[in-house]
Amino acid sequence: MEGNITQKSVKVFLVEDEDKLRSTIEEYLVMSGYVTECARDADGVLGLLSRSEGEWPDLILLDIMLPSMSGFELLKQIREKSEVPVIILTARCSEEDQLRGFALGADDYLVKPFLLSVLKAHIEALLRRVNGNSRRKSYGIISVDREGHKVFVNGEEIILTPKEYEVLNFLMINEKIVLSRDRMLDEIWGVDYNGTDRSVDTIIKQLRLKLGDAGRYIDTIYGTGYRFEVK
Ligand code: CA
Repeated sequence: MEGNITQKSVKVFLVEDEDKLRSTIEEYLVMSGYVTECARDADGVLGLLSRSEGEWPDLILLDIMLPSMSGFELLKQIREKSEVPVIILTARCSEEDQLRGFALGADDYLVKPFLLSVLKAHIEALLRRVNGNSRRKSYGIISVDREGHKVFVNGEEIILTPKEYEVLNFLMINEKIVLSRDRMLDEIWGVDYNGTDRSVDTIIKQLRLKLGDAGRYIDTIYGTGYRFEVK
């Protein structure tokens, strides 16, 4: 994932009601290699909410003080639909406002006036953070696409049931940590599930089979449970 992130036509959606600021930011983003889309108020954003997942931007820059509906309210509605990274842009700089933004699911916060170069640095840092977390992550010969719930071994996709995926993902997230069957039952099947250790063992057995060479990454810890470790 090296190289300049802006080379991959990243789509940035800018919501800003001040015409001059909006065009200044837009111009700078385009110059920096981003594909941009702008909205001046809530109406423009509400159109975004009805889009299918593939048509969402890669990042949203959201002003808070907007004419009809506040950016906070919009953020709430955005978060009901999508985990798209959001940077709040606002002249409001009280601690309370910042905390409210984060509580509603903002990823970052920039207080006006800001330098365009600083805005760009925030965008790039956030995209790096998000891509590192959600795009394909590798564990030895296994790689996982957490957005698409897809797992690949040596680059070839293996088809898992939802439960198998959940168990494998839970093991990978807790790499090198011994997980008891009880904890796995609680966290994956839910505390109300009255399953037995056998439920876990069965899934692990299927997983090892499907993972082939990578099946050896799942260790059985005698008397306890399982541990995922690349070797
Ligand atoms: Ca404004």
